[in-house]
Amino acid sequence: MNKRYLITGGAGFIGSHLSQRLIAAGHSVVVLDDVSTGAVANLAGLMGNPNFQFVRDSVESEPIVNLLMSECDVVFHLASAVGVRLIVEQPVRTIRTTIHGTEVVLEAAYRFNRPTLVTSSSEVYGKGMTVPFSEDDDVVMGATIFNRWCYAYGKAIDEFLGLAYHRQYGLPVRIVRLFNTVGPRQLGQYGMVLPRFVASAIANEPVVVYGDGSQTRCFCHVHDVADALIKLMETPAAIGKVFNVGSDQEISINGLAERVIQRAGSRSKLEHISYEKAYGQAFDDLPRRVPNLSRLRAAIPFGPHNSLDQIIDAVIAEQRAAAAKKA
Ligand code: UDP
Repeated sequence: MNKRYLITGGAGFIGSHLSQRLIAAGHSVVVLDDVSTGAVANLAGLMGNPNFQFVRDSVESEPIVNLLMSECDVVFHLASAVGVRLIVEQPVRTIRTTIHGTEVVLEAAYRFNRPTLVTSSSEVYGKGMTVPFSEDDDVVMGATIFNRWCYAYGKAIDEFLGLAYHRQYGLPVRIVRLFNTVGPRQLGQYGMVLPRFVASAIANEPVVVYGDGSQTRCFCHVHDVADALIKLMETPAAIGKVFNVGSDQEISINGLAERVIQRAGSRSKLEHISYEKAYGQAFDDLPRRVPNLSRLRAAIPFGPHNSLDQIIDAVIAEQRAAAAKKA
C-alpha cells in the first residue's frame, strides 16, 4: 500500500537518498528541511514529481511540523546537526536542533499518532572501548568540556525521548544508531573523512590523516543504510527498539587513505596532523567503532551489499564528474 512519508532533514545526504528510494517504490514524500547543511540540489531528481513536496523550514517550527504531520502517514526524523567539525564549532546550534527538534517532531507524531523512526548515532556509544558495540551496552561519555560530546549526549536524550513516547503513550517509535555512512552527495566540508580523502587524492594533494591514523571505522554505503531504514519502518517487531545500522567491516583511517589513493590512481602521500591542529582545540577521538549487527539482522535481512571499494569508486566517480562539469 502506498503511503505518504514525512522526512525531516530530507535534503541532506542520507535523507535525499531515502526520499528517492521511497518515491521509486511508488510512495509520496514530503521533505522538511531548512537547508542549513542539506542542499536543494540533492533533491534535483525529485523536484516536479507529483508525489514529491519540499518544504523549506525548520523542524523547530511547531505549526509547520504539526501541519505536515497531520497530512502524512509515517515520519522519518533525520534532521540534525551534521559532522564533527560543525558540532565542535557550533555547539549551541547542535544542542538546540538535536534536542528541541526531536521534541517538536515526537510531540506532533504523538498528537497525530504517526509511526516514527528517530535517527540517532553511534556517537551514543561514547568512549566505548570494547567492540563490537551492542545496543544495550553501558556507555561512558566524555567530559562536558569537550564540545564534541554535546552531540552524543543530545542524541542519547533523543533516544530517551523516543523510547519514553513509546513506553508512556504507546507511540510506535523505532530508534536507529547510524554508524559511518558514506557515498555520493556526502560533503567533506563538515569534516567527514571519505569525501575529504577522495578530494585530496584526485587532486594529487596530501591526504590529511588526523592523529596517527590507527583509529578504525566501518563505512557503509548510504543505499544500504536507506534500505535498512525503510525495512525497519515496515517491521512491527522493530517498534520500541534501538538498532545499530552500518557496516561491521573495520578499517583503519591510514588503511582508508591508502585504499582511496590506490583506487584513484593518485600520487598523493599521507600527511599526519594532530587533532588539536585539525579541530583547533583538544579533541577526544575514538580508537575503534564497530557495530554488533545481530539485533538488526534478526529483525530484517541486511547485507550490506556494497563493498568499501565500490563505495570509494562511487565517490571518486562523483567528484571527478563534478570537477569535469566545473572545468
Ligand atoms: N579524519 C581524518 N581526516 C579528515 C577527516 C577525518 O583523518 O580529513 C578522521 C577522524 O579523525 C576520525 C575518522 O577520520 O578518526 C572518521 O572521521 P569522520 O568525521 O568521518 O567520522 P567520525 O569521527 O564521526 O567517525
